[in-house]
Amino acid sequence: MTDKTGKVYLIGAGPGDPGLLTIKAKECIENADVVVYDYLASPFLLDYAKKDAQIIYVGKKGGDHTLSQDKINLLLVDKAKLGLDIARLKGGDPFVFGRGGEEAQMLLSHNVPYEVVPGVTSAIAAPAYAGIPVTHRDHTSFVSFITGHEDPTKKDTGMQWDVYAESNATLVFLMGVKNLENIVKNLVEHGKASNTPVALVRWGTTPRQQTVTGTLETIVERVKETRLKSPAIIIIGHVVSLRDELAWFDKRPLFGKRIVITRARAQASDLVSMLTRLGAQCIEIPTIQIVPPKDLNPLKQCIKNINNYDWLIFTSVNGVKFFFDTLFDMGGDVRALGHLKFACIGPVTKERLKDFGIISDILPETYRAESVIDAFSTVEIKDKKVLLPRAKTARTILPEELTNMGARVDEVTAYETRLNDDRKEELISLLKKNEIDAVTFTSSSTVSNFMSLLESKDAKKLLKNIVTACIGPITADTARALNIEPDIEAREYTIQGLVDSLLTYYERK
Ligand code: SAH
Repeated sequence: MTDKTGKVYLIGAGPGDPGLLTIKAKECIENADVVVYDYLASPFLLDYAKKDAQIIYVGKKGGDHTLSQDKINLLLVDKAKLGLDIARLKGGDPFVFGRGGEEAQMLLSHNVPYEVVPGVTSAIAAPAYAGIPVTHRDHTSFVSFITGHEDPTKKDTGMQWDVYAESNATLVFLMGVKNLENIVKNLVEHGKASNTPVALVRWGTTPRQQTVTGTLETIVERVKETRLKSPAIIIIGHVVSLRDELAWFDKRPLFGKRIVITRARAQASDLVSMLTRLGAQCIEIPTIQIVPPKDLNPLKQCIKNINNYDWLIFTSVNGVKFFFDTLFDMGGDVRALGHLKFACIGPVTKERLKDFGIISDILPETYRAESVIDAFSTVEIKDKKVLLPRAKTARTILPEELTNMGARVDEVTAYETRLNDDRKEELISLLKKNEIDAVTFTSSSTVSNFMSLLESKDAKKLLKNIVTACIGPITADTARALNIEPDIEAREYTIQGLVDSLLTYYERK
């Protein structure tokens, strides 16, 4: 045991949208030795934790109490007494029906120091994402946050049904889905008009947000029909009618679409954030792993002899990354490259090169090997020495054509791509349960790897209702060769182009 007791941060993790975490909460997670979280806190937030932080899941999904509240308390105290700082993440705000107050009292009684980091509560955020302001001057002057968990038939209840029924307050019930019928009954019995608008918002602020609306008279039936379950917020009051006018989140063009991303994880973030912003729910199933080549010596040798080359051509961001990683590992820097001319395939590769302070001399008009060749037709390449650091198994057209133009080309392996089958079972199970709408392919190898994850005899059946989207003609040809006819082939062979084509596809539908 150390002398110092660690501190516990009772942190509001927000309602689900990772962007609704506060900056202070993020800092606390980054600095914590231990992160304790439950099922309402978005798992994305764990990415902020230190590499060696202990991550502890304490559950709490309806009946599934992975750890009881007593055990959670003990855990917090024990870890703090070891001198560890703890980020205790709670869904929404820790002091709004989060038992944060009780945890603080308990910590106090054990002399464990704590701080509270308020969060965006689902009680306000879920309605907001459904287009429902909890207050509005034309409709109501106050709002109540009420537990829906309490058994309303209980004699000694804290519920003031007469007050709720008479006031024109917006009533926001948390934890109330199971009790909806009782809540409605009590309000009506106490005189609330049965045409009062009601909404339930499930998984508010997340891509799977679901909203059901009705009135006190119809809502129970509506919820039964749609089988809406917990966790959801129940909003009762005239502000609910504003949703017709103010809904925005679920109106975004790709809202509700579940789209699989097959790129390597390190490269997926652009595509994921563009699609997420348009409302899609991205499911990352990386089919490719990018690793350094088994033998780095050929690349090192080329770098050693870099003075012999006139041109350096990059066909991918990975090529750029691994080339510079190796150059730096060898103790070199960009000054070694001052005499070279550069060409890049694609604007993203060009941008990545610019990160290293180098502006590409040539950028082909379209982003395929063939256009690099066109681009080279205007420069003197005859007898020039060209270095082409790229993937182990890359297309041969570029070196062949450059050689035909008289260049002396050295291809060198800068990285290798491997099949990633970590999430194979999950993929198959999602496809079987119809929980995927579309799959995106950003290169030929994503297609071939994806297909090898599906046992090929079942592939056709599994992909029957799935929209397949390819980044360009070569990827699409690979798909066809594997018996999938792509529904979407991007016009412009970039991530933006792919996203645009998905948008157009769904707009037409
Ligand atoms: N402290 C939390 C509330 C915890 S009580 C907060 O401030 O948000 C748990 C209840 O919160 C759930 O039963 C549900 O009613 C509500 N809830 C939490 N996250 C939600 C979400 N994303 N969408 C809808 N309801 C949510």
